[in-house]
Amino acid sequence: MRLGQHAVVSGVVGSGLWASTGQPETLPIAITAGVLPDADHLLDFYNWYVRRSFDRVILILHGWEYAVAGLLVYLFAFTEPWMLAVLLGYVTQIGGDQLFNRVRPYTYLLSVRAFRRFEVAAVTDWGVTYAYESLVHSLPVFRGRLHAWFETRVGVPPGQRSPQCPEVASDKDSEGIGQLSK
Ligand SMILES: [Zn+2]
Repeated sequence: MRLGQHAVVSGVVGSGLWASTGQPETLPIAITAGVLPDADHLLDFYNWYVRRSFDRVILILHGWEYAVAGLLVYLFAFTEPWMLAVLLGYVTQIGGDQLFNRVRPYTYLLSVRAFRRFEVAAVTDWGVTYAYESLVHSLPVFRGRLHAWFETRVGVPPGQRSPQCPEVASDKDSEGIGQLSK
């Protein structure tokens, strides 16, 4: 799922929590927990497009294990609305990715990814080479320049587009690529 979609879903859950608990801070906390884990894409993008190493997908903040840990913390340490907001916000992040990204049942199990040495082919059906398309096409600005930069990193010939660029399939370049974001 894209960042904006994560923000909307976690915002809906956070609003429900605010309404049911009367604690307004549950809304920003749920949104933060629902969006922030996607910061881990920076590390993978660094490995892929700066180091040009495409054989691993780490996604260090994506794991159902964190949700289980959060549930235990909520049940046994902090039985308060803010912790429930952390837990449910995070569950919208991982659950949304699990449901709407093209993944295997264990792709978002950190333990399985680690056991399989984070090797792309061993944990997902994605090709990561063109994963930047999703990021680029969710941006309102600098699309062309970023496209060009990423294309030089993955070796798309100048003047061409990667096979997964939505502009190739459609004139409406803001659609059709949601599946790629993780
Ligand atoms: Zn994600």
